[in-house]
Amino acid sequence: MILQNHMKKTPKPLIVGNWKLTPNTLNEAKERYLGIVKVYKKFKSVIDAVVCPPATFISSLKKKDVAIGTQNVSFWTTGSKTGEISASMVKSCGATYSIVGHSERRAMGETDEVVAEKVAEVVKCGMIAVVCVGEAERDEEGNYLEIIKSQIKKSLGRVSKQEVHKVIVAYEPVWAIGRTDNVAITSHDLHQMAIFIRKYLKEVFGIAGDLIRIIYGGSVTAENAFDLYLNGGVSGFLPGRSSWEAETFKGVFSATAEAVKELKKRSRQVTKVKPPRRK
Ligand code: PEP
Repeated sequence: MILQNHMKKTPKPLIVGNWKLTPNTLNEAKERYLGIVKVYKKFKSVIDAVVCPPATFISSLKKKDVAIGTQNVSFWTTGSKTGEISASMVKSCGATYSIVGHSERRAMGETDEVVAEKVAEVVKCGMIAVVCVGEAERDEEGNYLEIIKSQIKKSLGRVSKQEVHKVIVAYEPVWAIGRTDNVAITSHDLHQMAIFIRKYLKEVFGIAGDLIRIIYGGSVTAENAFDLYLNGGVSGFLPGRSSWEAETFKGVFSATAEAVKELKKRSRQVTKVKPPRRK
């Protein structure tokens, strides 16, 4: 089952770094970006990488192999909306991805309906929407599964079957984000959730639901990325703090690349097994 899931994935894992409200200055952002570009070189052939800095820095970063995304866009397209930044604005500055509906924004009052509007704006502009969903806590009765379903249904409510390839679902359980002890989900639980989300995406979008990549975020580090990628059934990660330093981000790239290697090795072994000869 694990191998089957991974075989269905796009060839390269996707790793999207969320810089949140850091760094403080443009110079630091430039330095950080160049540092990440440098460490990424070695992994370019096996991993797709994106960083999402604060929107103010996007136009000043000289775009290299690491793609740029934004952490949020406005619900509105244009007009008298003081302080807002639209999807087409960030796109014109070089952003090709946008995180939408991060739990830290949902905690500020962003509803699924608002998220759906934002996803529509991002997709309309030709960018990729990385749509975050995740339960605040897990209950014994499994009600959290209904929460995930409802978030997916509503947040992707304005995406058509023809547009699904422009959407990525980032499963980010709130209880695993920003943990000082870096305790992420177990790969077993992640795998169960990836299967659940995939099944639901197919229910909503039919066969086109298979085109939506599922990635995981929540205290991803160099230490857990290998196991989470190898056994978690996801197509990549959305790390926050691990993407703030080139060296820690490199650790995530490296662990993921090792997992890709291991999966390839396993899939070669599977294909090598010959069926028993009939007598
Ligand atoms: C995030 O910002 O989406 C996130 C998962 O943060 P962290 O990796 O720091 O937990």
